[in-house]
Amino acid sequence: MTTLLSLPHSPREFGFYLDGAFHGGRPLFERASPAHGVPVSRIPKCTVADLEAAVVAARRAFEDRRWAGLPGAARGAVLLRAADILRRRRDEIAYWEVLENGKPISQARGEIDHCIACFEVGAGAARLLHGDSFNNLGDSLFGMVLREPVGVVGLITPWNFPFLILCERVPFILASGCTMVVKPSEVTSATTLLLAEVLAEAGLPNGVYNVITGSGRSIGQALTEHPDVDMLSFTGSTAVGRSCVHAAADSNFKKLGLELGGKNPIIVFADSDLEDAADGAAFGISFNTGQCCVSSSRLIVERSVAAEFEALVAAKMARIRVGDPLDAATQVGAITTAAQNDTILGYIARGTAEGAQLLAGGQAVDLGRGQYIAPTLFAGVTPDMAIAREEIFGPVLCSLRFDTVEEAIALANDTVYGLAASVWTKNIDKALTVTRRVRAGRFWVNTIMAGGPEMPLGGFRQSGWGREAGMSGVEEYTQTKSVHVELGKRAHWVTG
Ligand code: NDP
Repeated sequence: MTTLLSLPHSPREFGFYLDGAFHGGRPLFERASPAHGVPVSRIPKCTVADLEAAVVAARRAFEDRRWAGLPGAARGAVLLRAADILRRRRDEIAYWEVLENGKPISQARGEIDHCIACFEVGAGAARLLHGDSFNNLGDSLFGMVLREPVGVVGLITPWNFPFLILCERVPFILASGCTMVVKPSEVTSATTLLLAEVLAEAGLPNGVYNVITGSGRSIGQALTEHPDVDMLSFTGSTAVGRSCVHAAADSNFKKLGLELGGKNPIIVFADSDLEDAADGAAFGISFNTGQCCVSSSRLIVERSVAAEFEALVAAKMARIRVGDPLDAATQVGAITTAAQNDTILGYIARGTAEGAQLLAGGQAVDLGRGQYIAPTLFAGVTPDMAIAREEIFGPVLCSLRFDTVEEAIALANDTVYGLAASVWTKNIDKALTVTRRVRAGRFWVNTIMAGGPEMPLGGFRQSGWGREAGMSGVEEYTQTKSVHVELGKRAHWVTG
């Protein structure tokens, strides 16, 4: 018997989800567990005609107001029921995240808890979403600002957090009254399809949530170009984000929400609790094997303590438990795709060739099957090195040094990105000065990776457009309509 801590005996075949029903009959993409190398799932390779049908279903469900026309309280009730069902199915969904993504089971379970919270916050947001009024336009004119759902949303999600990134968007899209067509990464589609079961059981009307599976280059590209999709929410690489902007401009000027890459600084002052900060640095780059848009990948450390601090981080990295993600004790699991594995190892080789000094890791970990990389620390990194500038998307931390607060801020901002940042100091002046001056959409002071779905998420600069989660996350999927109401008799324009 297969248990939730052993591998399935045979790969499970999934159907794609269109207008309230699962469908099969398409060629299948077989996904092997990146941690174990055995096939775990078979996912339909949908056609562009399937995508077309999904957009038609989502459009119909939007226009007949079966969802947008409900009171916010009714939409919120569906989201709360979904949260309850997720609580019941937590371990099963976490298991599928492990099988397809390679992340540790304990981490995956924590992520599902976060997803449950997203649905609960989304439920509250559905009830609280409101517009505005203007009572200051003079006695003869009254102004109302209505918030209306944007319409049909295309949602493209990546493979690093297949369920978490999905759930940081779906409840908020649903709270707004929009309908959607989701295209998950082909390599991690299972849990996006499991969410369809959850939402159906929670009472979501047919056609509101549709999932079309297949590759990014075929289905994803077609979704970005679709003229009847009103908004596209994309999370992934900056290169594909750029192609989404072109596709939107060349089709229907669809609204865009983009969450792209990051090269996030962790700034450590000499006056910080160095043990705490070293733990934060080791965690910030190793969490999800560094395949995380908010990974703290650039250590910017005050020169007077740099050598001591780097040694502390290296020692902690050496103690991180890299292993089989189905083992509850594992802290760092597998690299999700072979291509990503090659990319990370390529950057490690490049760092060494560029003259950086390897203080920890620096190589693949051989567990007999699957692909794993040891948490890695490079010291002596200079700002011009590729490993300091480019998003590696792996467990590779690069250490740069500073002498003054101004220098720390300048180094932190020396990137095209602006997703997240962290600062460690006991001095409130330094903490707040750095927080105000470093350009990043998410900031941590003496902590890292903390937070919940109440607060908005998103990036500055080339890290993206728009905000997800919180009330901003719902508002992102709405547009405002300004309504002017004449009170009493209107003064005539034609007087002759
Ligand atoms: P992509 O940007 O290619 O993939 C992200 C999503 O976009 C996936 O669903 C993918 O589908 C889809 N996609 C791919 N090509 C297109 C396209 N032309 N039009 C529309 N959708 C498309 O990321 P990669 O998988 O190639 O990863 C490369 C790099 O991107 C990483 O090394 C990392 O730097 C960055 N990245 C950042 C993420 C983030 O959270 N900010 C997440 C993932 C990657 P499919 O997978 O089926 O091809």
